[in-house]
Amino acid sequence: MPILEKVLIANRGEIALRVLRACKELDIQTVAVHSKADRELKHVLLADEAVCIGPAASSESYLNVPAIISAAEVTRASAIHPGYGFLAENADFADQVEKSGFIFIGPTADTIRLMGDKVFAIQAMKQAGVPTVPGSDGPLTDDNDHTLEVARRIGYPVIIKAAAGGGGRGMRVVHNEAALVSSVEITQSEAAAAFGSAVVYLEKFLQKPRHVEIQVLADGQGNAIHLGDRDCSLQRRHQKVLEEAPAPLIPQEARDAVAKSCIEACIEIGYRGAGTFEFLYEEGHFYFIEMNTRVQVEHPVTEMITGIDIVKEQLRIASGLPLSLDQSEVLIRGHAFECRINAEDPKSFLPCPGKVTTFHAPGGLGVRVDSHLYDGYTVPPYYDSLIAKIISYGETREVALARMRGALDELVVEGIRTNTPLHRDLVRDAAFMAGGVSIHYLESRLEK
Ligand code: ADP
Repeated sequence: MPILEKVLIANRGEIALRVLRACKELDIQTVAVHSKADRELKHVLLADEAVCIGPAASSESYLNVPAIISAAEVTRASAIHPGYGFLAENADFADQVEKSGFIFIGPTADTIRLMGDKVFAIQAMKQAGVPTVPGSDGPLTDDNDHTLEVARRIGYPVIIKAAAGGGGRGMRVVHNEAALVSSVEITQSEAAAAFGSAVVYLEKFLQKPRHVEIQVLADGQGNAIHLGDRDCSLQRRHQKVLEEAPAPLIPQEARDAVAKSCIEACIEIGYRGAGTFEFLYEEGHFYFIEMNTRVQVEHPVTEMITGIDIVKEQLRIASGLPLSLDQSEVLIRGHAFECRINAEDPKSFLPCPGKVTTFHAPGGLGVRVDSHLYDGYTVPPYYDSLIAKIISYGETREVALARMRGALDELVVEGIRTNTPLHRDLVRDAAFMAGGVSIHYLESRLEK
């Protein structure tokens, strides 16, 4: 198989290790790049080569494009895997990588740019037949009468969103007409300051939606498939906490129809690589909110129910190979959960970096742990606090959940505080166990 020879992993932590493992399986050489604070990272110790690309601050290391490109040059890497976060959805980086003669493991820079602008993304999706949220269908202008008219048509509450927004920032909910025009102006100036673009648009604000997303794979050669859906409704401050696949309690026809529309969109926009279509789901309807053009933190739950290695598929696609399977070969079986274990206080949610004196990973049938932790590893204070993903699989939702309960009870992380107690509560929560809670459920539960 004419697969990539050497991959540089432009990331850290669990996802860097995840990519390394996929490369090893495919006999691809690996280059780890790391900051000065990350010499002890597990994947750095396991990689064929390692290059220090700068000081601890991400802006000078994991976001330092010239340093990453130089590392690829000196190690003669053939391709760069961006993981998630950092430069994964940075179109200029993808451009730089390709211009320097390396393969960017992901979609083209143009696709990343298109999907990074939510107004364009929504328009492209609408054209391809993907269901979207009723809204302004384009940027708001200075014409306040028109803005008021749009809001009246879709009905209050509405949400004003920055076209260039991300990470749950640049959004404002408006409950009545009196507040609309001033809120638009505030959001515009905030968006200009935060994202360098004052473009905002309007959407209907859904009151009790769930977050349901579709995983896709496309080879950029006219083939695209979906790997089913995931429910990521348990969120705190727009950060996902616990995910599952498939999304529970959704009629099969609704599921199939939205997944089919995502495949059509992939073909329409010439999508290449792994990607996720994010939707809000309310009362039987899906509403597209954005597309992520990269591998996601929660990809393992999909791998568990399909048996498909998403990172290996990314590597194959980047090598120029067509998809290794077609839709009829994707069989969804059983149920999976993922708990994101963070180095943070379980009550205050403040980060708790420091030395891990003891780490015992759970195990057994249907339990998977994606983590870079080991005894004596020090979690640095500079980066995201995700330290482990505990994933469980079972032939039914109940079995998968029972296995997750056992796995969380077995997990031991000593020396630092983690959010494990929160997860142990959640997997015993009656509403969560019943399935289908909304995106507000976790925060309202935490308030109580
Ligand atoms: P970001 O790129 O910042 O993550 P998204 O468009 O994905 O922005 O929205 C983030 C979150 O904001 C969603 O998961 C949801 O909780 C909330 N949200 C966004 N749009 C709406 C909407 N139209 N109605 C209700 N909630 C929304």
